[in-house]
Amino acid sequence: MNTARENLAKKYNYNNTNLCYMEQIHSNIVQVVQENKTLYKCDGLVTNQKNRPLMVMVADCIPILFYDKIKDVIAVAHAGRVGTFENISKNTIECMCKTFDCEVKDIAVTLGPSIQKCCYEVSQKMAKYTENTFGKEFVKNRNIDLQGINKKQLEKMGISETNITISSICTQCSNKPYFSYRKDNSCGRFAGIIMLRG
Ligand SMILES: [Zn+2]
Repeated sequence: MNTARENLAKKYNYNNTNLCYMEQIHSNIVQVVQENKTLYKCDGLVTNQKNRPLMVMVADCIPILFYDKIKDVIAVAHAGRVGTFENISKNTIECMCKTFDCEVKDIAVTLGPSIQKCCYEVSQKMAKYTENTFGKEFVKNRNIDLQGINKKQLEKMGISETNITISSICTQCSNKPYFSYRKDNSCGRFAGIIMLRG
C-alpha cells in the first residue's frame, strides 16, 4: 500500500501489517493497542505486545517514545503545543502504569527532533498564557520551549532526569533531513517508531 511505510518496515525489519498508528487529533487521549486493530484516533498508544511497532508521525511536534525495560512495555505520544499543554506525557505514563503495572522509575523517555525554542514562536497571548501556566523559564519573547515543559511534566511524574533523552535537533532551523511544517506547510511527516522484538 504505502511505499514509504513498506520501505521503513523493510529497513527496520518489522512486519508493516503489524504497524499501529494514529489519526492524531491534538488531544491527550491515550489508547491501549488491541489484538487486531492498527489505526487509533488518539495521540498516545501503549502496548506490551511483541513485534507490534507503534508509530507517531510529526513535522515540528514532538514525537515521544517510552520504554519500560522491566515490564517490557512501550508507548508513543504525539506532543504538539495542545498535547503538551494537556499533558499527554502524563496520560501516557499513567496508562502504562495502570494497564501494565509499570513503575515510573523504570520508564525511559525519548523526545525526538522537533521545533525548538529557537524557532517556536507563538502569539503574544499564547506566550503570556505559557508563562502564566508553566513558568517564565519556558518563554523568551514570543518563543516557547515545549521540550522544557514536557521535561518538567515528566520529572513531576517521577521520571528521573537520567531517563529522559531530548534531541536538540530543531526541525525548522537545523537543516537536518526532518520535515518541518513551519518551514514548508505542504511537507510530509516523519515518524518515531518503537517496537518490542519477540
Ligand atoms: Zn530552530
